[in-house]
Amino acid sequence: MRILIVEDEQKTGEYLRQGLAEAGFVVDLVRDGLDGKHLALTEDYDLVVLDVMLPGLDGWHVLHEIRQAGRHMPVLFLTARDQVEDRVKGLELGADDYLVKPFAFSELLARVRTLLRRGKSKEPETLRAADLELDLLRRRVSRAGRRIDLTAKEFALLELLLRRQGEVLPRSLIASQVWDMNFDSDTNVIEVAVRRLRAKVDDDFEPKLIRTVRGMGYVLEVPGAA
Ligand code: CA
Repeated sequence: MRILIVEDEQKTGEYLRQGLAEAGFVVDLVRDGLDGKHLALTEDYDLVVLDVMLPGLDGWHVLHEIRQAGRHMPVLFLTARDQVEDRVKGLELGADDYLVKPFAFSELLARVRTLLRRGKSKEPETLRAADLELDLLRRRVSRAGRRIDLTAKEFALLELLLRRQGEVLPRSLIASQVWDMNFDSDTNVIEVAVRRLRAKVDDDFEPKLIRTVRGMGYVLEVPGAA
């Protein structure tokens, strides 16, 4: 597997080059956007790690050129700021994932492996049930075209319910996936969160999508859908 790294900070570049080489990848490192673009368009890489702020040509332009040329290898971009606009811009231009500096090498390696496994297929950017929409890139939710504001936990809970639509999700699973905790029957944190989520997503709308299955858990489904 060949990886191209385009990173102008010498220390970061070397660190990535060495780490990825030790992990068994064949790695090329360049420090300039123009060189990065040239190599990405003329050589065959399985993945590109692309910094945003680069001399010559910035990461956005390099990415744009790569996609314009019809090259679809996964691109993981590195950004110095965790800004939603940056993330959305990169993903809209065709990046597959991003990391905010500083990051741990283990994190980068995990992302690289996931992207290589996933290859060229991209996951859907919007999850839907009836007229409910959850936009994964912009982290926005709307129903019947009306914007719904959710907390981070409510968003994660709704995302999980939508991804596993039609499946009854036990509280223990919700606890581990959304709260990263072991289920403790003394806590009603899940009930409270589900109630709040329903108030926002279902109360003013028809049909009701989130249901309690007594003694089992919760399910999100469109009534009547098989
Ligand atoms: Ca840079």
